[in-house]
Amino acid sequence: MMRNALSLGRIFGIEIELDYSWFIIFILVAWSLAVGYFPQGYPGWPAGLYWGVGLVTSLLFFGSVLAHELAHSLMARRHGTPVRSIRLFIFGGVSQITEEPKSARDEFRFTIAGPLTSLALGLVFGGIWWAMRGRDHPLAALAQWLSFVNFMLAGFNLIPGFPLDGGRLFRSLVWAITKDLRRATQLAAAIGRAVAFLFILAGVMLIFRGLWINGLWLAFIGWFLENAAAQSWRQFTLQELLQGHKVREVLTSDWPQVPPELSLQELVEEHVLTSLRRCLPVISEGRLLGVVTVHKLREVPRERWATTRVAEVMIPLEQVKTIAPEAELLAALQLMTQEDINQLPVVTDESLVGMLARDKILAFIQTRAELGI
Ligand SMILES: [Zn+2]
Repeated sequence: MMRNALSLGRIFGIEIELDYSWFIIFILVAWSLAVGYFPQGYPGWPAGLYWGVGLVTSLLFFGSVLAHELAHSLMARRHGTPVRSIRLFIFGGVSQITEEPKSARDEFRFTIAGPLTSLALGLVFGGIWWAMRGRDHPLAALAQWLSFVNFMLAGFNLIPGFPLDGGRLFRSLVWAITKDLRRATQLAAAIGRAVAFLFILAGVMLIFRGLWINGLWLAFIGWFLENAAAQSWRQFTLQELLQGHKVREVLTSDWPQVPPELSLQELVEEHVLTSLRRCLPVISEGRLLGVVTVHKLREVPRERWATTRVAEVMIPLEQVKTIAPEAELLAALQLMTQEDINQLPVVTDESLVGMLARDKILAFIQTRAELGI
């Protein structure tokens, strides 16, 4: 699981994560509905009812965003692109689709599924509201707002700024025409950044006209879009450089290994200070038992180093992330970034093949980029 997020479990095998920032939106939506929007449109209800309807509406808003993302993810998976998780955060959701789509047609299909779902939900809630129009009923109030919000969700996502859905649709069209994913991505990301700057510009203009809350909000969305576009282009080039490369090509096989009965004093003098490695695998009879780290070492007072064994402070194998030599290098790098670690033991059948170091992957990327490979 990623940091700053709460796991809500799995739906159709896809992990759903809730970023903590999402709670702010949840409260904000419920509050603004309960004290502003509903009392204005439907006066005379008891305060508790406004809050009740506000909270239910906010939950259904969350459900609407989730439905949009699930539509992307399920469609992607149906066409053979694995989806790891869906993350819901302050601006909505992001499907963590781990690979680039296989064809322009696939990308078009799984992208359009999201806005189409939002449009459909907008129509359903709109239909409920229309059927109950003129009636002073909580369901009418709830349906009215959710209809509007789902149409907004579809509209916002169709802005042609990569990596928003609109930008992805644009990329898939350029890709279909030029047959060149790299050029299509480059163009879509450039347009994404241009759209982002327009948002920032519009925001600044509003601020100068005294509408500083709306202005700040627009500028903030622009800043977010700019980051997202730049980030997706970096991600794309990284993926392109690492495509098809396996962990075994970059692993270090002469990394120092230590036996569990070694004292910490010997560990420091004979291994840590000479190799300058901060994480060492603990091996006994050819099997990997765990790892010992400098971080763990520092938890033991220095006067006890001579009498403490490695086995007492090592992190046991069950708690250590490992990777297979045949795994994709990109997957390894993603795992390291996610777990915030700099090395991974490379393992087959509980025996250590070598260690994979992040700095070596970065050197691999840099060298290939410099040589233009
Ligand atoms: Zn979407």
